[in-house]
Amino acid sequence: MTLPSADEIRSRVAAAGVVGAGGAGFPAAVKLAARADIYLVNGAECEPLLKVDQQLAAEQAAWLLRGLQCGMAATGAAEGVIALKAKYQPAIAALTPLLPANIRIHILKDVYPAGDEVITIWMATGRRVPPGGLPLDIGVVVSNVQTLINVARAVDEAQPVTHRTLTVNGLVKRPVTLTLPLGTSMREALALAGGPSRDDVAYLDGGPMMGKLLSTLDQPVTKTTGGILALPADHVLIRRRRQPESALLAMARTVCEQCSLCTELCPRHLIGHELPPHLIVRAMNYRQMGASPSTVLAALTCSECGVCEAYACPVDISPLRVNQLLKRELRAKGLRYQGELRPADPMAEYRLLPSSRLIARLGLDLLNHKAPLSAQAYSPKEVTLPLRQHIGAPAQPCVAAGDQVEVGQLLARTPPGQLGAPLHASIAGRVSAVDADFITLQSQDTPCLTPSL
Ligand code: SF4
Ligand code: SF4
Repeated sequence: MTLPSADEIRSRVAAAGVVGAGGAGFPAAVKLAARADIYLVNGAECEPLLKVDQQLAAEQAAWLLRGLQCGMAATGAAEGVIALKAKYQPAIAALTPLLPANIRIHILKDVYPAGDEVITIWMATGRRVPPGGLPLDIGVVVSNVQTLINVARAVDEAQPVTHRTLTVNGLVKRPVTLTLPLGTSMREALALAGGPSRDDVAYLDGGPMMGKLLSTLDQPVTKTTGGILALPADHVLIRRRRQPESALLAMARTVCEQCSLCTELCPRHLIGHELPPHLIVRAMNYRQMGASPSTVLAALTCSECGVCEAYACPVDISPLRVNQLLKRELRAKGLRYQGELRPADPMAEYRLLPSSRLIARLGLDLLNHKAPLSAQAYSPKEVTLPLRQHIGAPAQPCVAAGDQVEVGQLLARTPPGQLGAPLHASIAGRVSAVDADFITLQSQDTPCLTPSL
């Protein structure tokens, strides 16, 4: 099938409300307005326990390729690269016979964080994003698998984003990867996975390394929800997230032995960014915030991958959270990091953390279930749709309480002249509430819990 013009691709993607499904939800149409020479598909999915992209790339290989070709046409990229791990054999087997001459598969080492786009780009193309810079600075655009499938469906079928595929894994009775209407509650997603397999669990929204602790299961599934993980309530990953800032800083002050292991294993540092977590911790401990401004500002370039806290530090300090605290302060002051890219560590390739070691260190082996992709549909009785599921301004409602809507109908528009994405109905039914943050829809049907789930 021939491709529409670049303008037409962007317009269809914008109208469908496609946002980056693998991160903070950057509006895809804006990314497609850039000029690049390489379009990279980030299929690393390096967060242990999440099984979305690796399965979608196998099941929907043709859609993924089509989305990549749309992305290449819109950005002018001459080369397409699909970065996958060797263990994603079904995806590699499905994609390989379909590849045109200008698209190749790059096999990534099974290391963490292969899915940090700065690291993915380096591993798949040899190019290095400067600290504080963007992939576009070096001519690369990166999208994840689900984003590009959504792009292809928007371009070829004018299909808006109404569903999200996510993994429910860990301490659940039937680990599964589901495709759910946006706005379905996490509680329902968990029920579809059979519920928790024991009592004392806590939940993460996202992967074990970068996911957020869920305070309530009433939270809705959004365009950027990658997974729900049930972990033991006393697991180190949960305890760390619950540790108050004051305790975290007191611990850093009293036990940091300046061994510098956090810096030696920091992936960003390894590829030539200044980012030295051990020096940042020291500056924080001794309130030397003005003493080495470049060092402190380098906290802004931390990807929050968590290697320093989860693996490197021998005394259980979290340089990651120190960086998060600093980022808040530095951003509030409007400060930016402006250091240069340095030579990469000649051993960088060999010093990145093997995923198997990370999984073993975190005791996740027994929780890392296959979570097969389910084709079963689920129709919730009610969905709660946040007006902001993306970077930018919240969408502006164009429906009112009492209106009847069909699946895919426009509910809220991008405010004129602003960065954002529209929102569409994920179920058919009645608009039951519209407020400043959410639109709630109620279905007239009984919720359908499919028996095979
Ligand atoms: S979280 Fe730690 S290891 Fe990861 S980039 Fe930040 S400082 Fe480096
Ligand atoms: S690894 Fe831990 S103890 Fe060593 S310098 Fe970093 S924060 Fe301090």
